[in-house]
Amino acid sequence: MTKKAQVMVITPHPDDAEYGVAGTVARWTREEKDVIYAVCTNGNKGTSDTSMKPEELTRIREQEQLAAAKLLAVREVIFLRYPDQTLEDTPEFRKEIVRLIRMYQPETVVTADPYRRYIWHRDHRITGQVTLDAVFPYARDFFSYPDLLEQGLQPHKVKEVLLWGSEDPNYRSNITDTFSIKLAALYCHKSQVESHPFLDIEKWLRHRAKEMAEGEDYELAEAFHRVEIWW
Ligand SMILES: [Zn+2]
Repeated sequence: MTKKAQVMVITPHPDDAEYGVAGTVARWTREEKDVIYAVCTNGNKGTSDTSMKPEELTRIREQEQLAAAKLLAVREVIFLRYPDQTLEDTPEFRKEIVRLIRMYQPETVVTADPYRRYIWHRDHRITGQVTLDAVFPYARDFFSYPDLLEQGLQPHKVKEVLLWGSEDPNYRSNITDTFSIKLAALYCHKSQVESHPFLDIEKWLRHRAKEMAEGEDYELAEAFHRVEIWW
């Protein structure tokens, strides 16, 4: 019933994980770690093209996400398909994340930092918050969901959570050798990056990755707020 993976990335929209953690994912998969993606929304409002139908955009963005995941050697992509811009902190959404955590039993969960101030996409804030709650205490506690237990989904203790987009980073990951794969994976999201000239995105990403690596003995990094779970 359970298909263990060391890492579960829980992303609000298709493409957020590529911005946030793809360089680190590429390094993990090179080290033969199993990485799973869970994509919470279908991203069907992510366009300024008024001739685009939301259903068509959903289909395109799933294909783009699958292509990016394939490049990064992600084992599996799960689409939860909530409509874009509709995520709420509901018992149903929380339980869905708990179910996935118990099913895949990851040591590391990666998601968006919910505590970024002011302008932050509501789906990002909700995904981060619900994921943190799902990790602790809901996935861990025996009596949280008797029905999940009946389905054979045992409680699971996640060891660490990495939050991207944090204003308070305390952990950096060396992506110098995987930066080009991150960029290629990001560029799989054509519907999102096509409106920008590619070189500018590369320049911007490289600049940010350099800033995140400041003070380290390597060139490029992704930065996270890392939470270790002891209890
Ligand atoms: Zn997003």
